[in-house]
Amino acid sequence: MIPTLRVLMHMGSLQRLVPFFVLGLALAIWFWAWWMPLVVAFGVVMQFFVEYGMHRFLLHRKPPTEQSPFNALYRSHIGHHEFPADPEFFTGDDHWYPVRFGLKSIALQALVLWPFVGWQLALVIPSVAVFVGSVGAFAFYEYCHTLAHLNVPKGWFGRRVTQSHLRHHFNDHSATFHVSFGMGWIDRLFGTTYDRDTAKDRYNAETILSMGMDPEDLRLVTARKAYGIDKMPRARKA
Ligand SMILES: [Zn+2]
Ligand SMILES: [Zn+2]
Ligand SMILES: [Zn+2]
Repeated sequence: MIPTLRVLMHMGSLQRLVPFFVLGLALAIWFWAWWMPLVVAFGVVMQFFVEYGMHRFLLHRKPPTEQSPFNALYRSHIGHHEFPADPEFFTGDDHWYPVRFGLKSIALQALVLWPFVGWQLALVIPSVAVFVGSVGAFAFYEYCHTLAHLNVPKGWFGRRVTQSHLRHHFNDHSATFHVSFGMGWIDRLFGTTYDRDTAKDRYNAETILSMGMDPEDLRLVTARKAYGIDKMPRARKA
């Protein structure tokens, strides 16, 4: 747990979220009502859907043909699949992204709530949902993901998280898009649960680490060069 937390403390995105989390807590206390825990729970559940949706539809989208958007996708996810143990690729690149995403989400929810609850609660409710619930769930996701990729002694929890997520890396990159512990139901809901036979059919040892791309693809070669990587992705010995 300690080495994982050490990595998390240095994560730029989480550092930037801390003041917003504190603000959300302050708002929750200031405007306390019996339904406040439900607001937090709503933010938590929404974030687990966001975790799944972003991973599946944004990070695993069809790789762009243009080099510069390709490089951006390489930096945000393909690089992590090619070099899963490299912390550079799993601690995030755009550290302000979660803050911007959260603020946009709050603005949107506030517009919807405004006519029903007035401007004050229309700002407080989504702020508590996002800054406390979603940020909390996002931190939990980062904890699970980091733990899955660190080579440290693991207990029951760590082994469960690692086994489930490494299947996404090493067995079938088109399944198991959730990462957070206990969120396998989202994959079941959307039909992307890991299945041994399907995984075997799809499996290709050459392309598994490059998310189905030929590792010699010029876009990959160019992106690796752009980020100063001079090695090729290497599959673990089975
Ligand atoms: Zn950084
Ligand atoms: Zn992935
Ligand atoms: Zn991973």
